[in-house]
Amino acid sequence: MNANEPKPPVIGSLGELLVEFVCLEQDGHNVRAAPYVGPFASGAPGIFIDQAARMGATTIFSGAVGDDAFGQVLRNRLESVDVANTLIRTIKGVPTGSAFVSYNKDGSRDFVFNIAHSAAAHFPTGQEAIAALLAAGITVFHISGSTLGNPAMCAAALEICTALHAADVEISFDPNVRKELLGDPVYLAAVRQLTGIATYFLPSDDDAAVLFPGESFEDFSTKLIASGVKYVVLKRGAIGSTGRNADGTILSVTAHKVDVLDPTGAGDCFCATFVASIVSGADFARALHLANAAGALAVGKVGPMEGNSTLADIKRFLEAQP
Ligand code: ATP
Ligand code: MG
Repeated sequence: MNANEPKPPVIGSLGELLVEFVCLEQDGHNVRAAPYVGPFASGAPGIFIDQAARMGATTIFSGAVGDDAFGQVLRNRLESVDVANTLIRTIKGVPTGSAFVSYNKDGSRDFVFNIAHSAAAHFPTGQEAIAALLAAGITVFHISGSTLGNPAMCAAALEICTALHAADVEISFDPNVRKELLGDPVYLAAVRQLTGIATYFLPSDDDAAVLFPGESFEDFSTKLIASGVKYVVLKRGAIGSTGRNADGTILSVTAHKVDVLDPTGAGDCFCATFVASIVSGADFARALHLANAAGALAVGKVGPMEGNSTLADIKRFLEAQP
C-alpha cells in the first residue's frame, strides 16, 4: 500500500467473552427453577466485535475462554465471522465466563454473572496486547464499561486504551454503567478517563442519567463535543436514538416497531453498526439510520448476538419497512 493511501478500517476490542443462558419464563429472577436456553455466545465487547465483523470491518479481539465446551462456542462464533484470534487465549483450569439473564414483566432484567473468577478475566494485556493490536493496524478500538467492573480488568483495559489513544487510534466507549459501582472512585475515574479520550461516546439513556444527572442531551453533548468527542450517540431503547457530531448537528431517529424477544445486546450491536459504518465512509445520518435498524433487528431474536446482522440484512429490513 502506498504511504499516501488511507489506512483500511480495522476495528479492535477487548474484554469479557461469556456464554449466556436466557430464562424462558418471566419474573423468575434467576431464583426459581425454569427452562433456560443457551449457551449463546455473549459478553458486551464480544457482541460488538461480532457485529463489526458482520458489517465488513477487519476485526481483532483480546479475550480469553476456558478449555471447555463453552469456550469452543465462543471460538467457533468469532471464527465464523473472521475475527482475528491471535489475542484470544484458552486458559486451562478455569471455566469460560457466563451470564444468566431472566426478564421481568416490567421490562427490567436480572443477571447472574461469572466474569472476574472465570477465564473471561484473563484476556491478553499490557505490551503484548498493545503491540499486537497496533501491528494489526487498528484504527478504532472499542471498550465497554462492562469490562471495568473488576479492578484488575479495569486497570488492564485502561492501560491498553490510553496507549492506543496515544498512538492515534480512535477510542469508542459505551459506558454500560453499573450503578452499584458508581461509589467506587477507581471505577468512576476509569469511566471519566475513557469518556475524555473517546472519539465515539455511545451511552444509553440510563447511562446518561447517572453520568450527567439533570442535564439534557443538548447540554452534555455540547460539553463532550467541545472536549474533543466527535460523535455522542444516545441509545434510547424502544424510543430510538439521538446523536450529535463534531459539527454540532443533532439528529434523532425513531425506533422501528418490532416484536421484542430479547433486548440484551441491542446496544452493543447498535454501537458496532454505527462505528463500522462511519469508518467505512457513511455519513453521520446514514450511520445512525443503519445502527437504529440493526438495534431493532437485534431485539427480535433470542440470544444476545443472534440478532446481529450484515449490511445486506439491514438494507433488506429497511426496504421492508412501511
Ligand atoms: P444493552 O446494554 O442491553 O445492549 P443499551 O441500553 O445499551 O442495551 P438500547 O437502547 O436498549 O441499548 O438499544 C440500542 C438501540 O437498539 C436503540 O437505540 C434502538 O435503536 C434499538 N432498539 C432497542 N430496543 C428496541 C425496541 N424495543 N424496538 C426497536 N428498536 C430497539
Ligand atoms: Mg448498553
